[in-house]
Amino acid sequence: MSEHPPWPRRLRDSVVIAAAYFGLGLLTLHFFAGHGTFPVPVWLPAAAAIVAVMLRGAAAVPAIALGTFLFNRLVLDAPLAICLALACGNSMAPYLGWRAMRRLDPSPYIFARRRTVAAFALGGVGLHGLLASLVGATAVTAGQGVDAWLHTLLSWWLCDTAGALIAAPALLALLQPEPGGIRHWQGFVRERPVAALALLSLAAFFFLVLPGRDGTLVGLPFLLTFPALWLAWRHPPRFVQPLLALTCAIALAGALSHRGVFYFGPASLPLETTALMAISLIFVALVVGAMATERQRAAMALREANRNLVARVEMQSRKLQTSEQVFETVVQTSPDAILVTNLEGTISFASPQANLLFGLSPDVLLEGLTFCQFLTTDTRALWANQLSELIAGRTPPPLELTAVAPQRADFSIEANGRLLRDGQGQPRGAVVVVRDVEDRRRLQRELQDNEQRFRMLAETAPFALVFARAENGEIIFANREAQRLLGVDVPAGTAFTPEFYADPEERSEIIAQLMQKGALDNREIRLKDRHGRTFWAIFSAVLSSYSDGPALLISINDITARKALELTLRRQLEEIRALQATLQDQALRDGLTGLFNRRYLDETLERELARAARERTPVSVIMLDMDHFKRLNDRYGHKAGDTVLQRLAEILRDACRASDVACRYGGEEFALILPGATLPTALERAEAIRRQVAELALPPSPSQGTADNAIRCTVSLGVATYPEHGGNGETLIQQADRALYAAKGAGRNRAVGAPPLSLPGPAAHPALPLLD
Ligand code: GH3
Ligand code: MG
Ligand code: MG
Repeated sequence: MSEHPPWPRRLRDSVVIAAAYFGLGLLTLHFFAGHGTFPVPVWLPAAAAIVAVMLRGAAAVPAIALGTFLFNRLVLDAPLAICLALACGNSMAPYLGWRAMRRLDPSPYIFARRRTVAAFALGGVGLHGLLASLVGATAVTAGQGVDAWLHTLLSWWLCDTAGALIAAPALLALLQPEPGGIRHWQGFVRERPVAALALLSLAAFFFLVLPGRDGTLVGLPFLLTFPALWLAWRHPPRFVQPLLALTCAIALAGALSHRGVFYFGPASLPLETTALMAISLIFVALVVGAMATERQRAAMALREANRNLVARVEMQSRKLQTSEQVFETVVQTSPDAILVTNLEGTISFASPQANLLFGLSPDVLLEGLTFCQFLTTDTRALWANQLSELIAGRTPPPLELTAVAPQRADFSIEANGRLLRDGQGQPRGAVVVVRDVEDRRRLQRELQDNEQRFRMLAETAPFALVFARAENGEIIFANREAQRLLGVDVPAGTAFTPEFYADPEERSEIIAQLMQKGALDNREIRLKDRHGRTFWAIFSAVLSSYSDGPALLISINDITARKALELTLRRQLEEIRALQATLQDQALRDGLTGLFNRRYLDETLERELARAARERTPVSVIMLDMDHFKRLNDRYGHKAGDTVLQRLAEILRDACRASDVACRYGGEEFALILPGATLPTALERAEAIRRQVAELALPPSPSQGTADNAIRCTVSLGVATYPEHGGNGETLIQQADRALYAAKGAGRNRAVGAPPLSLPGPAAHPALPLLD
């Protein structure tokens, strides 16, 4: 039954249902025409009604009502009220019967289970017939008394029930699709015609051919159950049910025509008997068919379960085989010794490695020896305790024991036991896996010794050593020096965190470098102890590991003192350099005037001349000498003379341009180098200086400063220029000197240029008169 079929289909279904009801009514009426109109013994439309409801649900109800109404009105010409009552009763009864049937068993296919057959018989047939006959009998016997009502009710119920039970299974078997999974019918298709022929021939013989006589043959129809049940057991309902319906039709036809074994005189009830026989035959066939299907299903489920079981057993035995092989391989190849003991510890199996470990041949080992015999007396109790733990259902961790073996010193073993249980889960022994851990123990001891040595070394090291986790800086070890340096009293739990770095960011940089390169050598960094004191340190570290995490081994050398020393030294060095510069300056300068000295002049002049030669520029030299300075000294004193010299130096300094150089050439004699100056320019400059000096009026002493006794002085100057007067410093100075003497000779207080250079000869260089 589809939920909501489209309306054209519903309309078509309704027409078909109403027509089927109407048609089956006509067929029934014609079939039983000889018997009389009401009540017929088998009312086939009841089958149409229940099948329609079972296949289409509530949607079939109006169509059934219409079919009933039309049939009663048009064919039977019943009064309208009765027609309406019957339409209502005959359509609602199958519906309610179907609802009851579904409540008893929701399966829509009635042939597969006995429970569904029962539900169909009770709801679809019994209740359906009862409700229809209640309405029908009440409607047609209204006002005729209880006896009439009761008689009508029973006849009605019987005819509806017989109609439904005889025809509905055949219709359902033909119209309803067979669910999957029950097609494995036992009977061959070839067998069907034979069995069908037997059934129909017997029915025809019993009900159409044989005379009823005096009732002596009335039991013969029981023989029909053989072929009927044989067919029901072995063949599908689609074949069996229509055949049975046909058989019933033959029987009814015989009864109607007063033939067959059920008709033995006017006192017999051939139609009623036939109807009852048909009901029981079909019901029993339904039950037997359902039983056959159930049996087939059970057999299929059993076969399936059996297949699964076989597959599982195969898999289990394969697993078992594999695990046996695995066990054998493990036992033979395991580096550990494997023993199987009973609960008392007596060894029942020992692997080759066990024999090797305990230094015994297999025969000796298995002569009732116990595992405890291979343990030192002090550790036997430990193993006994381990066994009791195992028996108590716990899984204790492996146990370290001391073992004894011939020709070997006592050695450490690790024994791991697991309980063996029998089929009932009762402990029956133990498997003991024994590992020789003597080498490991020795290594551990050596490691401990080494560690102790390292600790001692580290503790007494003169520099700080810290071992810390890389990720959080937690200090794992810090030697005495480190504790002192960092102010860490309790190293455990303290972290070598950024707070130990004067620049916290330096730590991340260091860690990054260590992670990348694995080591860091002699880096100078500033650290901070826990009291906030900062200090300079040489920091070296290597990347190591500790408990599966990266760790750093750090050495710290406090170099604060060295740093301080360095600072002092640097300062002293700076002082020395300053001093050296002063000295160098002093070596080039004249102490009284602050002007450069003659040595500097010589060096500078050569340099300037070289440059002038390169750049093709002139260089002039002015030589200057105080006039009658001896007299000035004599008159005003040597000190006043010094003052005059200092004042003159000032004038010269002022007269100098950036590139010019003024020097004290010696005594009261001075020289000026004027790079770039031509002879006329230099002469002009010399003249300016002369004039400035001549205008000087210095007080002899600060106290006696009057205009009258002011110190006055003059200078004479000689000028020579490169390249006119010489190509080197010496010649140039010589020429300037000559010009100076020429100035002296010419009366002093003047500037004289050197004469142009000509070929050497007495005429060209007349000796100048030297004054004083
Ligand atoms: P002339 O005009 O010819 O140069 O005469 P002069 O007296 O200047 O020349 P002379 O060479 O005879 O004398 C130079 C004098 O300069 C002699 C010396 O006492 C004086 N003198 C040299 N150096 C210094 C000095 O540093 N300080 C003082 N006060 N006098 C100095
Ligand atoms: Mg002089
Ligand atoms: Mg002089």
